Amino acid sequence: MDAIPTLLLSAVAMTLIVGLRYLATSGLFAWLTTRRRPGAHAGLASQIRREIGWSLASAAIYGVPAGVVAWGWQHRGWTRIYADWQALPLWYLPLSVLLYLSAHDTWFYWTHRWLHAPRAFRLAHAVHHASRPPTAWAAMSFHPLEALTGAVVIPALVFLIPIHAAMLGLVLAIMTVMGVTNHMGWEMFPRALVHSRLGGWLITASHHQRHHDEYRCNYGLYFRVWDRLCGTDRGLSSC
Ligand SMILES: [Zn+2]
Ligand SMILES: [Zn+2]
Repeated sequence: MDAIPTLLLSAVAMTLIVGLRYLATSGLFAWLTTRRRPGAHAGLASQIRREIGWSLASAAIYGVPAGVVAWGWQHRGWTRIYADWQALPLWYLPLSVLLYLSAHDTWFYWTHRWLHAPRAFRLAHAVHHASRPPTAWAAMSFHPLEALTGAVVIPALVFLIPIHAAMLGLVLAIMTVMGVTNHMGWEMFPRALVHSRLGGWLITASHHQRHHDEYRCNYGLYFRVWDRLCGTDRGLSSC
């Protein structure tokens, strides 16, 4: 087959996958929220409709670069994604996941701080913060400009850092689940973990909730390292 049709097909398929993944994951956790916190979504119907609309637009912005890279991996041998478990030592498998999460976290922290500069906030990031309080549907509720800053990260990293295809799947699963659950307004992890020493370095719902409550703190994605280093960590909200 010609390159163009297969490339288009890959971009469309990836957009559908990202969109359906969003609907399934956010739908699941939104449903759990109504079970766990009855009334939490009361009066939020029009906000939730907006969150879903922006998120589905983001799905295309995430899906197209991902589709192009997936096509290049399959048809042109692009990227450093590998499929043979023996290609690199086994200890590298967890390390690669940590490298991806740390790199994404670093990119997110600094672009997120930039998005809170007055002009960038008005132009783009206000869309994400229009969710008050955010719900599980707000996971990808971004202005297209902000979605673009997020969409390039993993497609760029696969050219730089070797990763097994299954570990890449794990990274994407963590990204999806944390993106959704950090916005749902309640903590799904046990208190013993959230308030442990390890929990003090991890970002879960009550950390990101505080960002949505107070704006100028708690900018991180997965880890509290940058927030702590830069003095922007204000701890957890009471959710
Ligand atoms: Zn958020
Ligand atoms: Zn923000």
